[in-house]
Parts: sequence; structure tokens; C-alpha cells
Amino acid sequence: VWKDFRRWEQLQSSQLTAEIEQKLAHQLHAAVQQCAYYRSLRIPTRNPSEPATQWLHRFPKLSRQTVRERFSDLIADSLRPAVSGPDALSPRQYNWAIVKTGGSTGIPTTVIHDRQGRDWGRATRLYSLQLAGFPLGTPYFRLWGSELDLLNKTASLQQRILSAIHAETLLNAFRARTTNLQAYYDTMRQRPDIQFLMAYVDAASGLAHHITENNLQALSIKKIMACAGTVTQDHRRELQHAFGAEVIDKYGSRECCDIASECSHHTGLHVFSPNVFLEIVDEENKPCPPGTTGNILVTLLNNPGFPMIRYEIGDLAAWAPSQTPCPCGSPFPRITSLQGRQDEMLTTEDGTKLTSVFVRHFVGVILNRHLIWEWQLEQIAQGHFVFRYIPTQRQGLTDNLQELKRSFLRAFGATSHVELHEVEEIPPTASGKHRWILNRCPVSPRA
Ligand SMILES: [Zn+2]
Repeated sequence: VWKDFRRWEQLQSSQLTAEIEQKLAHQLHAAVQQCAYYRSLRIPTRNPSEPATQWLHRFPKLSRQTVRERFSDLIADSLRPAVSGPDALSPRQYNWAIVKTGGSTGIPTTVIHDRQGRDWGRATRLYSLQLAGFPLGTPYFRLWGSELDLLNKTASLQQRILSAIHAETLLNAFRARTTNLQAYYDTMRQRPDIQFLMAYVDAASGLAHHITENNLQALSIKKIMACAGTVTQDHRRELQHAFGAEVIDKYGSRECCDIASECSHHTGLHVFSPNVFLEIVDEENKPCPPGTTGNILVTLLNNPGFPMIRYEIGDLAAWAPSQTPCPCGSPFPRITSLQGRQDEMLTTEDGTKLTSVFVRHFVGVILNRHLIWEWQLEQIAQGHFVFRYIPTQRQGLTDNLQELKRSFLRAFGATSHVELHEVEEIPPTASGKHRWILNRCPVSPRA
């Protein structure tokens, strides 16, 4: 798969169009033939002269809500008997895997990656590392949130082996307390041989802030791969200043794997065409011309076991102008001005900034027992939080809420106060967006 992925990189643009056409046609045919959900839609058969990219427009958008409600109908016939539900485990791990995501909007969603989908997903991760300039085997620091830390678990053998193969030094972003930030800084100073950093945007920015505020000497990091968040111009300046590093913006999600990444020419993010077909559409589902921001729709090209066609991932972007090719020579189209949600950070009792990415992952994935439909966590004062939720069912709810509350206290500090409020509605913001994390006291006292 990896070799095939690299082959795509060498294609001329007409060849690329033909390869995409072929893969997309295959994936769409598989969906209408093998998948109860797509059969039920009675999508008009493809006209022989119709390109698959046009036929695609006859498919509806796939919302997260549909994925949740029609989960088992979305599984291909051949796989369905093996998957009993969203919490099923594959007897042979490599055949298929359940992937849970909080997504960029925070609503918990479950999808399946079949064997082919997993291989291609892994290839996308290798590819983003390569594009960022640190191919497999290059040692790097990884500033990352880990739920293991919250649950007081240790990494599995498999995780530790993978970590060793990847030559990564893990710095736990979730524990980004002021004292830890200094320890991370010291670790990075002591290992000048490691010149690459992979990090949550929020977390890297927290460390950069610490470096700048304390007038610490800039680190000798060459490149930072910034993940799981929008890289604003401010972020880029801040990171470049504090780390002395070039920032590579990467876009991906758990359910769609890595989707696009910048190359070192910074002309936008190259879409990983061998694995995803992207559309950017306006409010009326019409394709947006280059430069116009719209909703991203993702079609996975290698996951027939669980077709995800025109999936509304919940992020906004625009196409880069197509007339100007990237100097790197990549045939892959580029997106620009990715405007994912700009969530706020939460502040714990000792002044630690907690990334909202992590909280969403925690509530939506790790402790998600499918009992809560919607939620919102609001920090109303230092050490004071309100968790609002709309339950889907009562059985087990009290236990689940206590689990969540305990985890919040572990995360925010034992003296914190967490109120649980059952509500009938969580009002969206004035712009109509749902906010999962709200922080009413963004300025925190320092530890
Ligand atoms: Zn490029």
C-alpha cells in the first residue's frame, strides 16, 4: 500500500484524475451493492458515460447523526454478521477495527475501518511524516495528550513497541502544568539531537507561551508538525519564535485518518488523494470555487466495508488556486485557510491549560457509554465547572456521570467543583454553532 501511495505522487494530473475516477467508481458501486443503507436510498444507477465524480453528486451528504442512527446498515453485508454493535471487538485484530471519535464537533461517532482502510490509513500517517520532512525512523518529540495518564494506566506493549519503532519521546501534553512545561523544555534542551516535534497545536502553543514568557532560550527544533487544531498566523509566529522551527500544518481525524498536509513550500495542504476524495461545498451543497470557504465533505476511497461517502466532517476550508502548481511537484490538490473550530482552553486549579481536544476525546470516546446525547462543559470561574448533558437513556447514567465527574476532578484538580446539570436543550451560539467547551474565565492565575 505504501509503495502504491508513493506511485500516486509521481502521477501527471491527467493520470491522477483517471486513478481517482477508477477508485471512486469502485467505492460507490461497492456501497450501492453491498450496503443496506445505500440500497435503501435507491440512488439512480450510474449512466455509462457519467464520470464517478458526477455520479457522486447523486449521493446525499453523510452526517454524523446518520452514521450513529444507521450504523449497522452502513456496514457492508460481508462484514455485518461479525460486528455486533459499536462496541464490538474484532476476534482477529487486523480484519477490521472500531474507530470512535469525538470529532472536531465533539459528538461521539463510531465508524469501522476495514482491513484495506486500515492499511491505507497507516500509509497516510507515514506520508504526512514524510511530507513534513521527518520520515519513519527520524527521532522526534511528541507533545501529546494521553488518556492513559488520566486513567492511571500504562501503555500497552504494542503501544510501547510502536513508540520505539517511531523513535518518539513522549511528552504528555495533558499534564502541561507549569512545572511540567519547564521539565519538557529541559528535556528538549538536553536532547539537541532530536530536532522534530509532533504536537497538538494547543499544546505546542502552551509550551511556546511558557518559553516566551520566561525569556527562555529558543529551542533548536527544526520542524514542528502541528496537529488537531487550526494553525493561525499567530500560532505560526509564536511557534517559530519560541522553537526556532518551521511549522508544518497537518489536517486529519480519527475516522478519516490523515487527510492533508503542508509540504515545505507552505502553499496550502496537499490532499492525500490516494485515500480521500474531498469536496468543498456551500450552504446549498454547490461546489465552492477556489478561494471560497465552504464545508468539507470527505469520501474515503479504500474502505468498502463501511462506506463513508460525502461525510460531513464538520470543518471549513477553501481550495487553493489550481492554476499555480506547488514547486514541490506534487500532483495532489491543495486546500487552504482551514478554519476548524477554535476552541478555548480550560484552566485547572494550578493554572494548567487543558486542551479542549483532549476533553472532547475523553467524554466522546474513552468514557462514552452511549448514554449522553449532547453535552457542554463550561468553566464559569477558577476551579468551577458546569457539565450540561442531554441523556439518551437512564440505565447506567448515574454511574457514567460519576465516572465523568471523577475524571474531571482528576483533570482539573481535586478541589475543583463540578456541577452536573441535566438539561433539555443546549442552546447554540448566536452563529448557530454548538460549543462543547466554554471558558468564561480565560485569564488564569499562574501556579
Ligand atoms: Zn507542495
